Amino acid sequence: MAITQPLQLLAPLSGVLLPLEQVPDPVFSSRVIGDGVCIDPTSQTLCAPLSGVVSNLQHSGHAVSITSEQGQQVLMHIGLDTVNLAGKGFTCLVHEGQQVAAGQALIEFDADYLALHARSLLTLMLVVSGEPVTALVDDRRLVEQGQSLLQLAPAALSAAEDAETEGEALFSKPLILGNPQGLHARPAALLAQAAKGFAANICLHRRTDSANAKSLVSIMALQTVQGDALQVSAVGADAEQAIQALVALLASGCGEQVAALPKAVSPAVSDAAPGAILRGVCASPGSAFGQVLQVVPQRLQIIEQAANPQQERQALARALRQAASALQQLRDDAPGEAQQNIFRAHQELLDDPSLLEQAESLIASGKSAAFAWNSAIEVTAELFQSLGSSLLAERAVDLADVGQRVLELILGVQEQALVLPEQAILVAEQLTPSQTANLDTTRVLGFVTVGGGATSHVAILARALGLPALCGLSPQVLSLADGTPVLLDADRGELHRDPDPQLLRQLDTQREQQRQRQHRDLAQAALPAVTIDGHHLEVTANIACLAEAEQAVSLGGDGVGLLRSEFLYQDRTQAPSPQEQAATYQAIAQALGPERNLVVRTLDVGGDKPLAYVPMDSEANPFLGLRGIRLCLARPELLREQFRAILASAGQARLHIMLPMVSQLAELRQARQLLEQEVQALGLAQSPKLGIMIEVPSAALLADRFAPEVDFFSIGTNDLTQYTLAMDRDHPRLASQADSFHPAVLRLIATTVRAAHAHGKWVGVCGALASETLAVPLLLGLGVDELSVSVPLIPAIKARVRELDLVQCQALAAHIVNLEDAAQVRECLHRQPLAAHSPVLEN
Ligand code: PEP
Ligand code: MG
Repeated sequence: MAITQPLQLLAPLSGVLLPLEQVPDPVFSSRVIGDGVCIDPTSQTLCAPLSGVVSNLQHSGHAVSITSEQGQQVLMHIGLDTVNLAGKGFTCLVHEGQQVAAGQALIEFDADYLALHARSLLTLMLVVSGEPVTALVDDRRLVEQGQSLLQLAPAALSAAEDAETEGEALFSKPLILGNPQGLHARPAALLAQAAKGFAANICLHRRTDSANAKSLVSIMALQTVQGDALQVSAVGADAEQAIQALVALLASGCGEQVAALPKAVSPAVSDAAPGAILRGVCASPGSAFGQVLQVVPQRLQIIEQAANPQQERQALARALRQAASALQQLRDDAPGEAQQNIFRAHQELLDDPSLLEQAESLIASGKSAAFAWNSAIEVTAELFQSLGSSLLAERAVDLADVGQRVLELILGVQEQALVLPEQAILVAEQLTPSQTANLDTTRVLGFVTVGGGATSHVAILARALGLPALCGLSPQVLSLADGTPVLLDADRGELHRDPDPQLLRQLDTQREQQRQRQHRDLAQAALPAVTIDGHHLEVTANIACLAEAEQAVSLGGDGVGLLRSEFLYQDRTQAPSPQEQAATYQAIAQALGPERNLVVRTLDVGGDKPLAYVPMDSEANPFLGLRGIRLCLARPELLREQFRAILASAGQARLHIMLPMVSQLAELRQARQLLEQEVQALGLAQSPKLGIMIEVPSAALLADRFAPEVDFFSIGTNDLTQYTLAMDRDHPRLASQADSFHPAVLRLIATTVRAAHAHGKWVGVCGALASETLAVPLLLGLGVDELSVSVPLIPAIKARVRELDLVQCQALAAHIVNLEDAAQVRECLHRQPLAAHSPVLEN
């Protein structure tokens, strides 16, 4: 990076200036990190010594780096060993990426707290980009914040910049970071220092992020934490030596004590010991025994500059056309609607005007097609990931998948074919939808990933393929050697290494029993769901399309308890016409006939589930934003149009309309008014039944107020659980705790049922809890009148009801609502004489 102007650095604090040599920490005193000054502070606000961008702000708030417009990087580190305070005593006033002016306040710190809890308050200001510095003030003087302290000499090239190096990048195996505070300033400095000893271009990778391993700030910006899986890559003559040295340094802790550090990955030294169990979240149910195959992403070499923009434009256009036709092929070959929709969404990404504009403008500025396309994808994927919505973060995976497909076509690189052993259990940081759809299911028996969530497209594909899958595992799983025997028990969320043969036999027996039971339940699917003591429970279906309605009827469903109408609106660039909407509802109603309930839920989108053709402001907390009924009432025309379309099916089935995400009585009243106006305008003799979903705690707690004004309630346990426990329902790390069996959720169900029955109204449960056979006695006992379940599970849920006695279930439920946590509830239910089967996820 060319530097032309000398630059003065201001004192970031007031205090006494000390020579660096006197800092009692060799990493700083030896100037390994960089040259600069040390101040023993008398003030408590750290300010910017230069103007620039906050290029790194450590999560713990004790260190911050500023990069000037010319590329000089200055690191400020408050106190010694303050990383261990884990953020206590620090208040950050800026955020990463923010432009700041010289003298602007960056971090406030509590000097008293630091003095008591950290080794020292000595604060460092170091030039980490390597330019020589000249002191403007003598040591041991009292300096004032804002006073000029150092001058940076202009340099032709910054030391952090690498020479252009051509060739294939070599990658280390993943290794698990053992440093208790991740790669903070001290270990990062030693790593960068070691990397600078090699000519090769070296990168450190964490998940999808990479850092220049020769740049301290770049390494710190990765914000690594203990347990992260890292890889080192290098290009150049001494790449192999560089990787060896840096992996060894990382494994040794980069100068820090690392307790029981998992070793760099090699077949012989895997961290997951025999018999060890790694836990994750079930993305697709089932179990399988097989051998590990690690799937490592293919990295492509991209040349940045290109001589002829016209040629690059043509190369991009050609690759986009080829990608579109390959995706069309995948769509045509897809066995189900879920898969088709995923690849249709991928095709739409290829036409995305914002992606194309970004790529075009880079090509126009002299970049290659590959570089331009890749940058556009990376920037957009990062944006998706930063919006705080797990749904959008999962769409970033789709974007990366499409991006890689096009990139390979531009570069003329063949997709890396996996060499699959027999009975492979794939292990990956992340699988893409394309990889998943292409899996050879004669050899692949299941897969586990570190990233992803139960609602990701990869999870949906796994369910469609009938492959057991787990997501959200610890990165340690990446250290299992290829060929390691593992038992993937997705139902329990477990991956067992070198499983006990007895466990395998047990599992085989269970599987056989389950198969026989499924066979029997299916044969008896038409029988009603009546308990031993004669209580009838309605078992209906959760559906999203006509085919599922037809399937529900053929599997003995009493009707549809939840039609998620979003399917009509999502993954398309234009709203469906009123005629299309009406025709869809009519077809579904006809498939059910006049004797069965059809509960149509009005549009439940917004925030986390945006619609391309309904512009919405981005929201910091989309799950707490303008979604469900809130969005529809903010756009009443949308709701009126949907009401009209739904009303077109009146009389063809027992029509019910249900409002999602209701949290206030006013919402129900407003929606009822709109509905009645539409009923009148259409000249209908009577209104359909109108009910609300109970999926927000306020609605459950006010159920006695809602009950007189509704015809029914249906409890959405998925959202009710997330809002009651304050846990994102799709969070891979929280999924095992965000459990609808939590007594707090069960008490809200009990409250709702009491209130509804007092007013003669019925209550259904349409969240995933209803689809768990384990929950059936509990929900029966709590007085729920209807279970709306995933279509394939209708026979099993009905069969389970027929095994139970209502009076016993009531006693059980009365006991369970007094338990302490979900684990106790599950245990209590498992102990019942007719213990249920394994949980099953819904699409
Ligand atoms: C629920 O929240 O439980 C529910 C059924 O609605 P959805 O899963 O569609 O949000
Ligand atoms: Mg919901």
